Amino acid sequence: MEQSPRGAGGPVEVGSVYVHAPFCVRRCLYCDFAVTVSATGDVDGWANALGEELELVQGEGTFALAARLETLYVGGGTPSLLGPRAMRSLGGLLGPERLSSSRLEWTAEANPESFTPGLAAAWRGAGVNRVSIGVQSFHTPTLRWMGRLHGPEGAEAAVHTARRAELANVSVDLIFGLPASLGRSWSEDLERALALDVPHVSLYGLSVEPATPLGRAVAVGREPAVDEERYREEFLEAAERLRAAGYEHYEVSNFARPGYASRHNAAYWDGRPYLGLGNGAHSYAHPVRRWNVRDWGAYRSRLASGVSPEEARERIDAEAAVLERIWLGLRTSRGLAMGGFGDQAAALVERWKQDGLAAVESARVRLTPTGWLGLDGLAVDLARASSAPGSRSEGANPARAG
Ligand code: SF4
Repeated sequence: MEQSPRGAGGPVEVGSVYVHAPFCVRRCLYCDFAVTVSATGDVDGWANALGEELELVQGEGTFALAARLETLYVGGGTPSLLGPRAMRSLGGLLGPERLSSSRLEWTAEANPESFTPGLAAAWRGAGVNRVSIGVQSFHTPTLRWMGRLHGPEGAEAAVHTARRAELANVSVDLIFGLPASLGRSWSEDLERALALDVPHVSLYGLSVEPATPLGRAVAVGREPAVDEERYREEFLEAAERLRAAGYEHYEVSNFARPGYASRHNAAYWDGRPYLGLGNGAHSYAHPVRRWNVRDWGAYRSRLASGVSPEEARERIDAEAAVLERIWLGLRTSRGLAMGGFGDQAAALVERWKQDGLAAVESARVRLTPTGWLGLDGLAVDLARASSAPGSRSEGANPARAG
């Protein structure tokens, strides 16, 4: 039977939209995102393709954009590579009315080397009000190893550029769990990030994916595998230092000063519907998740022929929905309401408390930073304990924090 994300009452209204900008000047060593290498990006090709996709989506009657969007997130890739016209073009496609809410959170990702004062001013003028900057590290050999184009001062300059353009709502990305041989001091990088005094920090643990240059180097022994102990220590050190500096660790990978938690990501974690536009973008409306072809050329040529870029979709069955609800609930500091999970689950959570993996407050279980390191395994254990009385809980596996 045809699987459709359409509810019985017609199109699902979405207040959160993700837009993918796939261009990067070169591919970083560890990157497995849907990226196409390009010196400048193709702003006109990008905007045309998005316009065509939007028209198809609106015509098919599955999703309906809310009259006023709550959140818009432009990620990549490197959105800042598309130059100053891109955000205004995107705003034109979505419609000024949809972007007119005073509550709209419009985030765009930038890499330091392409985040110029002119670009920042253009983004601000178009309506962008939150910038996520790919800093990753302040250590020059580490930045070179990763294949980044900026140096340590570039990252700091980008934060100042954002502030001067009245884009004070800045998030910086940092990566941890890198090989010891790089000589990178995680403590010093945290210190420099804290000195920037930005309202939001996201952490990404290094993950070695087989289809990346790093994955191939690890496979032939040219680079080491991730050192799990180092990964764990660095994550816990960051959690402690950011908390001490006044950031709330509000989600496994995210830290915010009061009032600055990402509202866009909250839509994912709360299981609300969202629309993804662009190559590789995912959309969700319970119980169906669907995603577009990853390759930029394939995405573009399908749309040029009037064909949907959707690659596949999956229907989330009842069992998967329970696991997903548990996993998403445990990701955030709000935690998971324990009502209805049963005695086995309560006993498991009691053991987590004793092991320092979780705390329970007002009948909600919240993982500690140590617990978050094992998020994936703990979620599976809790799903088993809640659905199969008598089933045994197995050990948690380390999860990537990113
Ligand atoms: S800048 Fe980001 S998206 Fe682009 S290649 Fe590097 S990690 Fe991937």
